[in-house]
Amino acid sequence: MIKTENLSKIFRTEEVETKALNNVNLHVKEGEFVAIMGPSGCGKSTLLNIIGLLDNPSEGAYMFNGKEVGKYKEGSRTQERKGNIGFVFQSFNLIDELTVFENVELPLIYLKIKASERKRLVNEVLERMNIGHRTKHFPQQLSGGQQQRVAIARAVVANPKLILADEPTGNLDSKNGMEVMDLLTELNRQGTTIVMVTHSDRDANYAHRIVNLFDGKIVTESRKDPALV
Ligand code: ADP
Ligand code: MG
Repeated sequence: MIKTENLSKIFRTEEVETKALNNVNLHVKEGEFVAIMGPSGCGKSTLLNIIGLLDNPSEGAYMFNGKEVGKYKEGSRTQERKGNIGFVFQSFNLIDELTVFENVELPLIYLKIKASERKRLVNEVLERMNIGHRTKHFPQQLSGGQQQRVAIARAVVANPKLILADEPTGNLDSKNGMEVMDLLTELNRQGTTIVMVTHSDRDANYAHRIVNLFDGKIVTESRKDPALV
């Protein structure tokens, strides 16, 4: 599903040049659950953004579902992303002016799904995320754990094959963090591929495989014994 070949990313500003990623070769198969770890500033979010077609590599190739997408322009990236990739962020990134229902409905509106079907799908996913009793509330009226469950509902409502999560438990206490990890694990068991950035050893333990980044390079990869997964 995901294959990067000697992928590098260089950010240039007037004063400095930052090599955020340096010859990264990462392969992720459909159905895997991969954790990316490493110190702050080592390139984790940059890698996730490129995998998620929010940004392009500067050098190297990126194959997504067998297509070389590394040089796609923004319009084609958006097209490829729609319905295929769901995002979950540390800061939830919900739209404060929209209700829970309306936030989760957005991806379906972009996909031009008709209203009756949208209603069915949104209510169903909110039930699955244990937040069905909060559909008319606004994000600011919810706890952090509830907001993240809404964000996960929005990420999965269009049934994407891939979920990208950037420190999804970073703003949550341990109880809510574990609930979010259990939801991600359940989605993975049902077949969704997950690539998650995390600082937490506990969260990384939910993954099948851990990729360690340092200064923009993959330094180690470890795989859990499949018998233990
Ligand atoms: P991490 O998520 O591991 O903390 P990032 O991927 O956010 O790291 O950043 C990697 C490096 O690239 C850092 O040095 C950061 O300052 C730099 N960087 C990230 N995004 C940009 C950008 N848009 N412009 C310039 N530099 C950036
Ligand atoms: Mg980051």
